[in-house]
Amino acid sequence: MTDDCIFCRIIQGKAPARIVFQDEEVTAFWDVAPRTPVHLLIVPNRHIDSLNQLEAVAAALMGRLCLTAARLAAEQGISASGYRLVINTGIDAGQSVSHLHLHLLGGRHMPVFFG
Ligand code: AMP
Repeated sequence: MTDDCIFCRIIQGKAPARIVFQDEEVTAFWDVAPRTPVHLLIVPNRHIDSLNQLEAVAAALMGRLCLTAARLAAEQGISASGYRLVINTGIDAGQSVSHLHLHLLGGRHMPVFFG
């Protein structure tokens, strides 16, 4: 946890957010500037800068993040219509918050996008 990381502050309850799920390892909340009708962020409670810093021992954590995303997609009613998970990593990908996060995007048709 770092006090200068906005997502750490949200996880700790020190900054406001619309949290939809939290357990001992994972927190999920609405993106403050949603790009799609459903736009949630799923983050590890432990501070990890990006996918580049993920260690092999944390592989199971990625599974938990993905399973959480799939469950939240079901809760939001977009499992059948479809959704996209995005992990921006580094400058070229436009990562703006240095705390590993999955974007869960859905609720409308999204054009195929590969950059
Ligand atoms: P990325 O550009 O992949 O690093 O995504 C960071 C995301 O975090 C962006 O979609 C922002 O809109 C979102 N974001 C930044 N600050 C907050 C906040 N305080 N609460 C919720 N979402 C945020």
